[in-house]
Amino acid sequence: MTAQSIADAAYIIAALLFILTLAGLSKHETSRQGIVFGIAGMAVALAATVGVAVQNAAAIAVTLLFVAVACGAVIGLWRARIVEMTGMPELIALLHSFVGLAAVLVGWDGFFSVENNAGQTEFAGSLLHIHHAEVFIGVFIGGVTFTGSIVANLKLSGRMKSAPLMLPGKNYLNLGALAAFGILTGVFVGSPDLGLLIAVTLVALALGWHLVASIGGGDMPVVVSMLNSYSGWAAAASGFLLNNNLLIVTGALVGSSGAYLSYIMCQAMNRSFISVIAGGFGMEAPTSSDTDYGDYREVNATEVAALLTNAKSVVITPGYGMAVAQAQYPVAELTQKLRDRGVDVRFGIHPVAGRLPGHMNVLLAEAKVPYDIVLEMDEINDDFADTSVVLVIGANDTVNPAAAEDPGSPIAGMPVLRVWEAADVVVFKRSMAAGYAGVQNPLFFRDNAQMLFGDAKSMVEEVLRAI
Ligand code: NDP
Repeated sequence: MTAQSIADAAYIIAALLFILTLAGLSKHETSRQGIVFGIAGMAVALAATVGVAVQNAAAIAVTLLFVAVACGAVIGLWRARIVEMTGMPELIALLHSFVGLAAVLVGWDGFFSVENNAGQTEFAGSLLHIHHAEVFIGVFIGGVTFTGSIVANLKLSGRMKSAPLMLPGKNYLNLGALAAFGILTGVFVGSPDLGLLIAVTLVALALGWHLVASIGGGDMPVVVSMLNSYSGWAAAASGFLLNNNLLIVTGALVGSSGAYLSYIMCQAMNRSFISVIAGGFGMEAPTSSDTDYGDYREVNATEVAALLTNAKSVVITPGYGMAVAQAQYPVAELTQKLRDRGVDVRFGIHPVAGRLPGHMNVLLAEAKVPYDIVLEMDEINDDFADTSVVLVIGANDTVNPAAAEDPGSPIAGMPVLRVWEAADVVVFKRSMAAGYAGVQNPLFFRDNAQMLFGDAKSMVEEVLRAI
């Protein structure tokens, strides 16, 4: 048995483990098991790949491989240990950019070792043409993923404005780039040339940047899962070039599951899937301006405590601010205290609250809030009208009535938690600043809404003390 055939068998095992990973991650109860399958699959894949390299490559190449793996492992472990939960999406976006960059480099390497290597190739006839196409497509998908993910990282970390970039004729720019890719591919497959490869790399880098820059803050969750999908297709393209079946299977798994997640998220946010993946195709610039919503009312912790102790039912709608403040522990304590006093307390979770899918559910589970009082938006939205008090803890865009009532708002049409229908609403935040989408929230100025300013954790603790 050769090292390659052992590796091929190991790749099949790894691919099966990756499929089990996805199955495990689809439910709360089995998600830990899913992660274990994923780690095992990656360990098997890495061991098999390194085993083949050790058999076939020169000593210097093997040494370099071990140095690279060690450096990557150390940096990866360090980053994963220090990253805050709120910083996860930007880290994931950065990791996607690496997959994109790797696909570009693999494509260029394929070009130099085959197309640019006069006559020294194992490919002949139509196989050679297929190789030309693989190089070009791999570089294109990789380039789009690389710059798109960098823009996503900059937007998610707040180093770039979350508002959409509205270049004149932006849809034509995207269509033009796609048309250029199609034409260049045709020419390259006929007669491969370094100039064409440079051209497609530049087109892809520019398109990736423009696609993601054109998408507004509220749609970023979909963009992150879309880039996840692109990174999968980039890896699959590299798999074809490197003749590596595992990379093809894994890339296809990531590509298709990411595309499906983007689709589900688009449905949850009432967005057109095609429009979002085409860089906001057909979306118009928002027309909302600086409307004067009047005055807001401020409240203190003692008054909130009184409101809560007299309430029959309370719904808590957490958002990104709860994650930043790490307020989930006092929130869980407050929930317990109120339930002990006979108040009906439940949670309403918006599908894109926080900065990653399931963000709030993870935090609440961490603080041991019982699963059965944590409800999805659709399960709780009709109950707000019968609720005595809603506590909005560090949420903003996800409770913004403008999404439902102002067709000119950048988040118009996005389903939101209808907290304003409750008898009283208390908003915990530090200032009147806008949420991630950069849109003012008219909820804060409603007659039944009151603002409790300060860090969410300290404020919930103050309310607890007052109770
Ligand atoms: P938002 O980001 O809209 O608002 C969060 C609010 O929390 C801010 O207005 C901020 O106000 C407040 N806040 C921040 N820090 C604190 C603190 N320490 N204490 C108290 N309040 C604080 O949150 P939502 O969860 O409502 O909405 C999520 C947004 O993020 C949506 O626009 C969504 O599209 C987007 N998004 C979601 C992703 C996902 O997958 N879930 C991924 C990427 C983006 P102030 O500064 O005044 O305190």
